[in-house]
Amino acid sequence: MRDVQDGTVTTFCRICESLCGLEVTLEGGAVTRIRPDEQHVATGGFGCAKGLKQHKLFASPDRLTHPLKRVGSGDDARFERISWEQALREIGAKVKRIRADFSPDAIAMYVGTAAGFGTLHPIFAQGFMTGVGSKSVYSSATQDCSNKFAVAREVYGFPFTQPFPDVDRTECLIVVGANPVVSKWSFLQVPNPLKRLRDVTARGGRVYVVDPRRTETARATGEHVFIRPGTDVFFFLSFLHELLAQGGVDAARVARFTTGFAAIPPLVEPWSPERTEPVTRVPAAKLREMVAAYRTARGAALYSSTGVNMGGHGSLAFWLQEVINAVSGNLDREGGTLVGRGVIDFPRFGVKHGILMRDDRTRIGDFGSVNDAFPGGILADEIEAPGEKQVRGLFVTGGNPLITMANAGRLKRAFAGLELLVVLDILPTETASLAHYVLPATSPLQRPDLPFIFPLMLGLQAKPYLQATRAVLPPAGEQRDEATIYLDLARACDAPLFGSWAVQRALEALRAWHGWRHPEEAPALPQERLLSGLLRVTGQGSFRALLAHRHGKRRDDHRADDFLGQRVVTRDGKVNLAPPALLDAAAKLEPAFAREEREAGGLRLITKRAVTTHNSWTHNLEEFAEGAGWTNHLYLHPDDAAKAGLAEGDLADVRSATATVRVPVKLLPELMPGVVALPHGWGHQHAKGLSVASRTRGVNVNLLAADGPEGIERLSGMARLTGIPVDVRKAAGPQAATWSGLPPETP
Ligand code: SF4
Repeated sequence: MRDVQDGTVTTFCRICESLCGLEVTLEGGAVTRIRPDEQHVATGGFGCAKGLKQHKLFASPDRLTHPLKRVGSGDDARFERISWEQALREIGAKVKRIRADFSPDAIAMYVGTAAGFGTLHPIFAQGFMTGVGSKSVYSSATQDCSNKFAVAREVYGFPFTQPFPDVDRTECLIVVGANPVVSKWSFLQVPNPLKRLRDVTARGGRVYVVDPRRTETARATGEHVFIRPGTDVFFFLSFLHELLAQGGVDAARVARFTTGFAAIPPLVEPWSPERTEPVTRVPAAKLREMVAAYRTARGAALYSSTGVNMGGHGSLAFWLQEVINAVSGNLDREGGTLVGRGVIDFPRFGVKHGILMRDDRTRIGDFGSVNDAFPGGILADEIEAPGEKQVRGLFVTGGNPLITMANAGRLKRAFAGLELLVVLDILPTETASLAHYVLPATSPLQRPDLPFIFPLMLGLQAKPYLQATRAVLPPAGEQRDEATIYLDLARACDAPLFGSWAVQRALEALRAWHGWRHPEEAPALPQERLLSGLLRVTGQGSFRALLAHRHGKRRDDHRADDFLGQRVVTRDGKVNLAPPALLDAAAKLEPAFAREEREAGGLRLITKRAVTTHNSWTHNLEEFAEGAGWTNHLYLHPDDAAKAGLAEGDLADVRSATATVRVPVKLLPELMPGVVALPHGWGHQHAKGLSVASRTRGVNVNLLAADGPEGIERLSGMARLTGIPVDVRKAAGPQAATWSGLPPETP
């Protein structure tokens, strides 16, 4: 590692998809301040609390600095420091034994969201699993976005072909189940979402926010429309019904660029706005108004995110959204939705080489893989159900499934039965606290990088650009980057990276050469050189040359009329409006609608994010935990609170079919009556290594979600993490946070 010199350097944030350009000030070898990079070519001047305080999170005294091994059991279990050599040797021996005695598929990996914000981490993690010969990869995407991947593969031919709203030119934007002002955009890099949305209305456009809560986005921009959680699919069916009724189909574009339209009118015919209104609670007149605004705009877009994705019918809802954008002529249109160009035509490359296109099936439940990964919602079953391919060893990389996955209480019990659990992380998380081995990784500020996977390969940037960053800080103690860790694990497991000894040996030789030239960086791989290789093979020059563009290097803007007829990678090159699996599932929605009618009077639980939280790991900073009052709260509309006999500050028991949690109440008039909200990412009391987070009192909302083959969506493997039917009543005792929640039958 180069000497760290005091001064200010430019880099970019790798916590969320906004990838904000940052200026980092170093004094005495430590980061003392982070500010937004005012001159950044795309994100200029934007940054949020998480990004600007990340150095405090990463400088925690709790950071992992050397490999750990869990010894003892039960209450006597503790972690002991061991050497890298011992950790690799023992992990390798266990992996070899499990592979030999059972099956390569008995070794599994869970890939979390953090892995996706680095370039080398996901590539080397997948390379390791390919070497092991295991298909048992589970992804955090099945918590929040696999529906989009599954649908895109059917409709556009490749999972990562993801049209996005042309936010800067649209005349009508309808946002369903998304809150960009707090959560930013998903599958699109648009920094400063508040300004961009206000710009739409400032230039005379319309913005509708359809959400069960009058969110920060709804309050700041546009018009808000309530919708009952979990009923989005019926909203989209009625939207399409009404679009057809209003003559909103661009017949010429449909005929030229799509197939399957004939199946759409009969599908939506039964779903008039009047019929769905009692279930969605979206007034028929308001829906007609939205359709008219959408239809008459010169460029309009429907956009949805996690509130729809995680609501139980995410695949069907997203498919209908894409059909609406396509048949109305807004797909690939200025002000509508665009499909960006990455540095290569990755969809065509992926289809040609079978990347992210595997058709594996799960042992339990017969679910298809999405993006070459299986649903996290069946991981507990795969661990517990006997058989040759029963999961016995698990690597967790860049994730914390014991907080973020459905039915986390059951998953914790399943993890306890694993023969080998290895966690690569920067902090001793809840999942790490159960691991047999914990391997210390570097933080984003400690690694060089490119904004590569989403923005560069896939073009998911509103303002396209390239950028490179060096590591801002060196690793501390014995921390290692994930690429190096997987190279060593592959050797230890006798399972060469990518299944190739030639690749394994070449990388080891490269590392040896680098260590000889830069002994202070040994035994790390030369990450900048590897990143440079990626840039060169995609025709983007060298890493060093890109570094000269401190504030990023702009690429050509995305254009309309640049996708249809040119980059659709279905067999016939046309957008498939009616994939059989989706059509078939949509034709069977009547029972689900009847259930919604029956449950219309019950409470539905949604999640709610604060700007200081990010999935599961920001509560270990005292000012963030304190700012949230050291706990999450159950938010209720005052009318619902009165019905349940609850007042602000009371403790409530929230009961689903899966578990019960106990949490204090806050009143929130901005909620739709009949809807309660409980922020996710809490429940850290048992992660004793997190000295701040373990003192918080919040509960894990995902204890309430169902897992298993019956609990997840068949088309995409998504768990239902929002819109969960719940019962709320006054608590019978004090706040009690447990791994598994209170029993469901808690009185
Ligand atoms: S919005 Fe915040 S967390 Fe996301 S990239 Fe920007 S600074 Fe980082």
